[in-house]
Amino acid sequence: MSVSQLAKSIAESPTLKLNEEARLLREKGEAVIHLGAGEPKNKAPISAILSAAAKLNTGEIKYTPTDGIPSLKKAIIRYTEENYDRIVAPENVIVSAGAKQSVYNVLYSLINPQDEVIILAPYWVSYPEMVKMVYGVPVIVTPEDGSFYPRMEDVMKGVSSYTKAIIVNSPNNPSGVVYPEEFISELVRYCEKKNIYVIMDDIYHKLVFDGKRVPSAFKYTDKDIESTHVIIVNGVSKLYGMTGFRIGWAIANRELVEIMSNVQSQITSCTAVLLQAAAEGALTGLQSAVESLRLTLENNRNVMMQELHSFKGVKVTKPDGTYYCLPDFRAYSNNSLALSELLLKKALVVTVPGKEFGMEGHLRISYAGSIKDVTEGIARIKWALDPTSPTEIYIGERRLVRDWL
Ligand code: PMP
Repeated sequence: MSVSQLAKSIAESPTLKLNEEARLLREKGEAVIHLGAGEPKNKAPISAILSAAAKLNTGEIKYTPTDGIPSLKKAIIRYTEENYDRIVAPENVIVSAGAKQSVYNVLYSLINPQDEVIILAPYWVSYPEMVKMVYGVPVIVTPEDGSFYPRMEDVMKGVSSYTKAIIVNSPNNPSGVVYPEEFISELVRYCEKKNIYVIMDDIYHKLVFDGKRVPSAFKYTDKDIESTHVIIVNGVSKLYGMTGFRIGWAIANRELVEIMSNVQSQITSCTAVLLQAAAEGALTGLQSAVESLRLTLENNRNVMMQELHSFKGVKVTKPDGTYYCLPDFRAYSNNSLALSELLLKKALVVTVPGKEFGMEGHLRISYAGSIKDVTEGIARIKWALDPTSPTEIYIGERRLVRDWL
């Protein structure tokens, strides 16, 4: 079949693929533990549900303005003022179908063919594919010191006359680290001088632990919203555990937002009005849902660290936030795809291969599920990999004996 070469070259989202594999196994009655998940188990905040239900009850479910309903944009403006200390206008805000579409829309609206976009490894799986989808060139910058913390010297080595933008995701999916404030401040100053756009994917910015706070990138520019090169992407998926509502947004200068709106108007017209109403409910309702999710995640992270520390040979950088950690399994295998497959097949545990995030030899392990998932999942991984662990394990009703080490 003759299809677009470009479309054909785009990889399937490995995380969504794993979700599907886990679902199919569960449907077959297998006791799968999903440590690959990028979503928590919470219920959506009641304020979100009531707001969507009220809208549904009106029976008036129509198109909305492409860039979002004014009342949701107002809630986003307030959120931006409270959390970023920036007052922006409605013309600086565009609502999209998840932060995923926001990032894509920003890239589509900024990038000319052959423009380069710097991506910091480890990175969210979708960035390189999205850059390719707009005919840009992803330039992966990996910290030379083997850590998960990018350094300015590494970034500068990746910059060329074609560099148009850099994507920054801190707290970071997949590593969970928060980049140091000095790095963000230096990066913003450097990029503004070089006319490079800094796309801040802030989707996890309130889900941080140990009393840390993630500074807003706006803090490091003295330019106003119309002239800064800082672009903010955020949404309700991760903060409120509202992944299925598909609402994200971007904050940028008016010109870019207008272009993004034109682009979006030709693709999706607008996001669904019910879901926008839900997002507005979440943003304007009681914010205790975010804190309660954050506390659950911090507790899960602590249990995960405890379990991983007793795992011989596995090295892990303690996550400062998000749903994930990215332990180094090179003591067991350098091939993360094969390792992840083995764990799914033998131990019925879903993990995501680090290769997908630009970190071979690592596995992304999520602690967004329950404590039981974390402890049992790590116990199963230990059983499958560590020859010093007992050879027998019970998975559900079944007694399994390890015979491959
Ligand atoms: N950015 C990052 C870093 C993510 O991890 C995700 C979700 N996995 C997204 C963006 C997309 O979020 P949304 O559900 O709002 O599209």
